[in-house]
Amino acid sequence: MKTYQEMSKEELTQELTALKAEYEKIKGMGLALDMSRGKPGADQLDLSMGMLDVLDSKTALKSENGTDLRNYGVLDGIPEAKKLIADVIGTKPENVIIYGNSSLNIMYDQVARAEMFGICGNTPWCKLDKVKFLCPVPGYDRHFAITETFGIEMINIPMTENGPDMDLVEKYVNNDETVKGIWCVPKYSNPQGVVYSDETVRRFAALKPAAADFRIFWDNAYVVHHLYKEDQAQILDILEECKKAGNPDMVFEFCSTSKVSFPGSGIAAIASSETNIADIKKRLTIQTIGHDKINQLRHVKFFKNVDGIKAHMEKQADLIRPKFELVEKIFSDELASRGIGTWMHPLGGYFISFEAPEGCAKEIVSKCKEAGVVLTGAGSPFPYKKDPKDSVIRIAPTYPSLAELEQAANVFVVVVRMVAAEKFLAEK
Ligand code: PMP
Repeated sequence: MKTYQEMSKEELTQELTALKAEYEKIKGMGLALDMSRGKPGADQLDLSMGMLDVLDSKTALKSENGTDLRNYGVLDGIPEAKKLIADVIGTKPENVIIYGNSSLNIMYDQVARAEMFGICGNTPWCKLDKVKFLCPVPGYDRHFAITETFGIEMINIPMTENGPDMDLVEKYVNNDETVKGIWCVPKYSNPQGVVYSDETVRRFAALKPAAADFRIFWDNAYVVHHLYKEDQAQILDILEECKKAGNPDMVFEFCSTSKVSFPGSGIAAIASSETNIADIKKRLTIQTIGHDKINQLRHVKFFKNVDGIKAHMEKQADLIRPKFELVEKIFSDELASRGIGTWMHPLGGYFISFEAPEGCAKEIVSKCKEAGVVLTGAGSPFPYKKDPKDSVIRIAPTYPSLAELEQAANVFVVVVRMVAAEKFLAEK
């Protein structure tokens, strides 16, 4: 098969005419498909239904240390839930605070508190003229929305296949005291599926920040979300590496069971150094008397331990792996073979990050919408929703059924080909 780069003007014209006719036919089909949402499918959620059976009116709602979970109290989580989450992310229970149902909420709180009260006695960010965050791109739109809301200036850091460009990260963090943070999704990043290498994690730990209150916002959202049994990414424990490197307080690590149990009804946590945990608790105790301990117990009783979570995630992987493989096969056959699309092959997480030829993403998303296929907005994986190359489109394959996904992916590839053919033809 010839690539679009190799095709002559005549060949491209012919291709475009045929694709336009196909597109019109698709539009007439009245499709209503959605590849925009990083949500588990209903079949994945069914796997967690047993969680609703582990407690009933006869269950003793007590934690292992005897606390009556029906009542107020326990600011930082019940001990068995702290142990469960600590084992999931590879740290110690004393480093963990269990919150409510959302890790995004914790991240927002961490930024809000830094703005209002300052971190560990440092000047509140709202009193500074300028505060900047580094944003590895493409990244998670809701991270960028938090920093944008607080008026924090966001700086794009290109991703490599080993994590963010660390030369740039070091340059900014070590020399500019207005740089106060960086957003990271170290394992199966949203949206590319990048896994940070050991060298990347060690370089993070060895940073010498110009700002005393610089923090790495380490969002370990996909820590147990492997797609394959044989090929599971392991990353170094950032808290331990930072301690070894003499930077024990440099990290806030986040995680949740949103895409393990029920999104919106899971448990979420922060892990950090003793000093940071004490600083957080000082404020948290004003915010709440304690989070939902009964849900914490429900999670512990259902999963039992980290191995229970791993076994559960293998069942989820069996459901979503075929979806990822289907999308990748259609993209390989129809797009990569024509030289009009690249992506990283993800081994976990929830997304495929498709890179179209430059200047095409917005048009592809809009033409797909017209044909009844909803995608995540072009630009959304970038700060201020500005993709400098207008090329990245985040594909979320988990929510639709396999049949719907196949239809949606087939529409997508026709649209990508049509938009790319138009671009290449215009450049001939
Ligand atoms: N972080 C990342 C990287 C995510 O992709 C998501 C969900 N899309 C979240 C956080 C949200 O997590 P939670 O449900 O715990 O707020």
